[in-house]
Amino acid sequence: MKILALVHTQADGGLPKAALETLTAAVNLNAQLGGTLAVGVLGANAAAAADTVAGCGAAAFLAVGDASVAQPRYATDAAAAAALIQAAGAEIVLAPGTSRFARCLPGVAHRVGAQIDTHIVTLCGEGGAVHAQRWFYRQRILGSFSRAARPWLLLVDAGVHAAWQGSAGAAHAQAVAVAFADEDLRTAVTGIQAPAADAQTIRPDAQLLFVAGAGWTKKQKDGQAHIGDAGRLIQDFLGKAKASLGSSKSLVDIQSEGQETLSFMSHMNQVGQTGSTPRHPKGLATCCHGEEPHAVGWRFINERRAVNLDPNCGWAQGKADVVYVADAFEVMAKVNALLG
Ligand SMILES: Cc1cc2nc3c(=O)[nH]c(=O)nc-3n(C[C@H](O)[C@H](O)[C@H](O)COP(=O)(O)OP(=O)(O)OC[C@H]3O[C@@H](n4cnc5c(N)ncnc54)[C@H](O)[C@@H]3O)c2cc1C
Repeated sequence: MKILALVHTQADGGLPKAALETLTAAVNLNAQLGGTLAVGVLGANAAAAADTVAGCGAAAFLAVGDASVAQPRYATDAAAAAALIQAAGAEIVLAPGTSRFARCLPGVAHRVGAQIDTHIVTLCGEGGAVHAQRWFYRQRILGSFSRAARPWLLLVDAGVHAAWQGSAGAAHAQAVAVAFADEDLRTAVTGIQAPAADAQTIRPDAQLLFVAGAGWTKKQKDGQAHIGDAGRLIQDFLGKAKASLGSSKSLVDIQSEGQETLSFMSHMNQVGQTGSTPRHPKGLATCCHGEEPHAVGWRFINERRAVNLDPNCGWAQGKADVVYVADAFEVMAKVNALLG
C-alpha cells in the first residue's frame, strides 16, 4: 500500500509539531501494513524541511517549495497538494489537521477523486485494511471505521501522536512541478494581525488549563463585584504558571452582553459542549459550577481540580478529582504569592 505523509512548512521554514506527529502516525501505519511510505512537503523551504525528516524511512520525498506556496492560500495549496498526492500515487494520505490543511484538503479530495475524514485520533493497519477512529457528538462517542475507497485522505488531530524524532540527512526531495493558473495567484496575504505573544492566552502546549467561570464577576461576600481584582489575579497566575486560559460559557456571554468583565477573555476561550475540547495534563476550574455541558469539554484533561464556594457544585458530584471548597479570590492570591 502506498502511504503519503503530506505536510506543510510554517513561516520559519520548519515543520510544525503537528506535521511531525502525523509523520509518526504514518511511519507506524506503514510498518503495520508493510507498505511504501512517501513524504510530501509543501510550503517555503519544502526541500530543506524534507531533509530534517530524512531518517524517517520513507522511500521517496516530494516537495513543492515554489514562492507561490510560501504563504497559505487555498488555490495554490490545493493545486500543490493535489500534485503531490498524484505524483506519489498515494492510496492513503495522512495530513496534520492544521488550519492550512483543514481549509484546502476537502477541495483536494474532490479534485483527486478521494474520500476524506477529519479529526482522526487513532490509526491502525491490519491485513491490508486501514482502521481509523474519531470522536463524534462533542467527544461523547468514539467511532471506529474503515473505507475501501482509495485514495483516502485522513486529517490527523494534533496532540495524540508523539512528534517524530530521528536523524536529519539528505532527503534528495524530488521537486514536483505545479502549473499554477493566474487566477490561483489572485489572493495575496498582505499581513498578519495577531495579539502579542504574552497577550495570547490560549496555549495548547501548556501543562495546565486554568478555567475561569462566571463566579469571578459575581457579587462577593462584601456585596460587591471585584472584576478588576479578578482580572489581575487571573493574569498574574497565567503569567507565572504559563497556563492556558479557558472560560465557561456564562463568563463569555457576560462579555458579549456588554457588562463589565474580563477584557482578555473571548469566545475563543470557551471550553465545553459548544466550546473547545483542549488536551492538557492538568486543569483547574475556578468560580465555575461544573455543569455537564461545560464539563464535557474537559474530557481529555487528565487531572481535574476545582475551587468553588459551593460544596454541592457539579465538580463535587464526581466530575473533578479534587474540589477545594474555598474562595477562589483568596486561593489564587495565595497561589500567586507562592509562585513568587
Ligand atoms: C446546549 C448547551 C450547551 C452549552 N455549552 C456550554 C459550553 O460549551 N461551555 C460552557 O461553559 N457552558 C455551556 N453551557 C452552559 C452550562 O450549562 C453552564 O450554564 C455554564 O457553563 C455555567 O457557567 P459558570 O459555571 O461559569 O457559571 P455559574 O453557573 O453562574 O457558576 C458560578 C460559580 O461560581 C462560584 N463562585 C462564585 N464566587 C466564588 C468564589 N469567590 N470562589 C469560588 N467560587 C465562587 C459559585 O458557587 C458558582 O458555582 C451550555 C448549555 C447548554 C444548554
